[in-house]
Amino acid sequence: MGAWGIINEVKQMPSELFEQKKSIITVCRQLVHLGLTLGTWGNVSVLCDEPGKVLITPSGMKYDVLCPDDIVAVGLDGQIWEANRRPSIETPLHLAIYRQRSDVRAVVHTHSTFATAAAVAGTPIPAVVEDMAQIVGGNAEVADYAPAGSAQLAENVISALGPRGAVLLANHGVVGVGADIEEALQVCQVVEKTACIYAYAKLFGSPKTISEKDIKEMHDFYKTKYKQQI
Ligand SMILES: [Zn+2]
Repeated sequence: MGAWGIINEVKQMPSELFEQKKSIITVCRQLVHLGLTLGTWGNVSVLCDEPGKVLITPSGMKYDVLCPDDIVAVGLDGQIWEANRRPSIETPLHLAIYRQRSDVRAVVHTHSTFATAAAVAGTPIPAVVEDMAQIVGGNAEVADYAPAGSAQLAENVISALGPRGAVLLANHGVVGVGADIEEALQVCQVVEKTACIYAYAKLFGSPKTISEKDIKEMHDFYKTKYKQQI
């Protein structure tokens, strides 16, 4: 059996799946528009409304030409359910996160500049500002280096991500997770902004940290109160 397992019989796509595929394409184009990645790099996935399945971007396709038929449906076990394209090279990483974290329903991977600079330096991005504390719930730690697409990278990411909302990939980029695709994208934006602020704060002096207790309170507030007002 190949790396992606057998290809199952293609079924008629329910309309909810079509909408989820469109939401992935929208976020992919936002990644480029927001300067969080260049070209075809980065990848995006969502947990399907159909249990046990994940929708993920194809490998190496320009986001401005993506259409819903290009999005690949993969089982949490790596089995391909519906594919007109090869799935993202980082599919094992996405699947490992969904298997590990029942609260995660979307994963966004970017190569944004300041966060990747921290990842190259091997420096975690601390939750030094309120929005990072709220949405990420702590540091974006650095996962040990492993080649892109490898099972080792997926393992390292799970270990460094823990229960938080974001993780850095050494010499590579950022992974943000969320309860939906908009939140996972927002996590990546907040991590990039915080990395930029942290770098500039070091130029001004010694960045002051927020206590673990206050970070936890802000994160709990975000999860239980703030989000419900949206
Ligand atoms: Zn990457």
